[in-house]
Parts: sequence; C-alpha cells; structure tokens
Amino acid sequence: MTGKIKNCPMCGRLFSDTGLHVCMDCYDKIERKEHEVIEYVRDHPKSKVPDICEATGAPEKMLKKMIREGRFIEVGVKMTYPCEKCGAPIMTGKLCRSCMEAMRMDLQRQSAAITASRQAERKARGRGMYSKKMMEVIKDGNDRELPKKRGKWQ
Ligand SMILES: [Zn+2]
Ligand SMILES: [Zn+2]
Repeated sequence: MTGKIKNCPMCGRLFSDTGLHVCMDCYDKIERKEHEVIEYVRDHPKSKVPDICEATGAPEKMLKKMIREGRFIEVGVKMTYPCEKCGAPIMTGKLCRSCMEAMRMDLQRQSAAITASRQAERKARGRGMYSKKMMEVIKDGNDRELPKKRGKWQ
C-alpha cells in the first residue's frame, strides 16, 4: 500500500501516509500510550480525563478520541469528557444532547429562513415569468397566432 508522503505531525519526519496519519514509529508510540491509558483506567476506574493525562502523560485529545471510540467501555469503564459548550459529561461527539438539540433547532431555524427567502424569490421570479408569458399569449393571439391558423385552415 502506498500513501501520500508527508511530515509526521508528531515527530516531523517524512513518511508515507497510508491512513494512519502519523509515521509507523509514532503509531507504535500511540498504541503503547493508549494501552497504558487503558491499563491505568482499568486500575483507576473513577479517574477523570485530567487525572489520566497527568498520570500517563497522554494528551487530552488522545483520551477524547479513545472515549469516542468506546475504548474504555471495553474494560467496563464509562469514561466521559466535558461538552464543548456547557461542560456536561458526554461520551460521544463534541456536544451533550441538549447542546446538540439546541444546535439542531438553530440549524433548522436557519435553513427554514433560507428556504423561506428562496421561496419568496422563486415566487417573485415566477410571477414575472407568468406575466411575461401572459403578454406573449395576448400578443400572439392578437397578431400572429390567429392569422397563421386561419392561413393553415383556409
Ligand atoms: Zn512520527
Ligand atoms: Zn452541552
């Protein structure tokens, strides 16, 4: 498998990225660190994210990723991290359920407003087309359509 050559975000070395996003050495390091974190959590099931970071030296980002991936559920620990908006404990995503709901409502309101303005625009444009078409029909009826028809049938 060949990947894109780029600099490893952890050690800066050039490597071929096959989807791991870091070089093999760093990937190994991460795997070992994750293992260490899981061991620690298994031994200290009541510990919070900052405690684990301090004890294992693992970055918070790594812990969040592991929580999202359900890595601690595997060892029977329900680990949570704070919602990015209100700080409520969550296990997946970035926001708690109520912040997600609030955001969803917000998005809905925004898209409803966009739809409404698009509809108004379409209506206005439609009305314009309609009256133009009406004008054509009237015009055709008066000086083109009728003589042509008459010519055809007579
Ligand atoms: Zn690396
Ligand atoms: Zn929240």
